[in-house]
Amino acid sequence: MADQPPTYGIDAGNQEMVSGSRWPYIRPKDGDRVRFHFLTTGSDPWLVATKFHRIGEGMQARNILCVGSVTRGEEQCAMCDMDSTQGRRAMFGMWLLVDYILHPHDNPDEEGDSWGQKKLMIKLDDGTEKQRSVFMENLTTTLGDESVVPGQVKLLQLPAGRGQIWWSQFSNAWVQSQNLRKHLYELHRTGAGRDDTEYTLNTLKEDPLDESLLEREDIKDLPTIEEVFRGSLSQMPSGNAVMGNDQLDGETQETSSELPKAEPANVGTDDLV
Ligand SMILES: [Zn+2]
Repeated sequence: MADQPPTYGIDAGNQEMVSGSRWPYIRPKDGDRVRFHFLTTGSDPWLVATKFHRIGEGMQARNILCVGSVTRGEEQCAMCDMDSTQGRRAMFGMWLLVDYILHPHDNPDEEGDSWGQKKLMIKLDDGTEKQRSVFMENLTTTLGDESVVPGQVKLLQLPAGRGQIWWSQFSNAWVQSQNLRKHLYELHRTGAGRDDTEYTLNTLKEDPLDESLLEREDIKDLPTIEEVFRGSLSQMPSGNAVMGNDQLDGETQETSSELPKAEPANVGTDDLV
């Protein structure tokens, strides 16, 4: 647990401000088993594997999309010149619909609901089975009409892993099924730190995604993963990788001049019809 960064203070705040937190990232913790359907088929823009530049140190480190990589060289990447010595990091992202998460412990939020306890049969390498207690967190979504539906849309973003070990599991799953929507999958994380974390992707069973879900209001307009990744470009350091005050002032002015003008006459018109 010592490796878990704090969620308070300026450093954590800075991370939160710039980390594209508008997207509902799924971040499994040690021991979690995330059970999900892919929303991507594995051959559409809802899954992208590409390269990022890693800029900055420690808590301030950012992954910034290499636009040269994501466009196969069509766009020129300003970071490639600045970052030539650091190398690029392969990462991939995709949209999922998470059905539920099996945790190794009950809900740590004392004011939250208790997660129901279940027994999970685990097959060991020698073929024998072992029982393990898990706690099941069912994920649901409340739609605009206040109806509650099962599953939550999540964005999974992972580094390719050493020797691309994490990426190759997703790649193999697609090679086997040709369409990632056909099965229920589990992503199992073990380890909490940078060096001992492992992710294992398991195909649980044939259980096709109900395609009518693709018309659901929280799913049908999901952006492409490239759009999501391009959000990281707003964190690109300028010039010599130090943000100067002049630059910041300029950006602020630009931003405010782009803000739409208030249109008070139109506010609430719909309510009056
Ligand atoms: Zn680049």
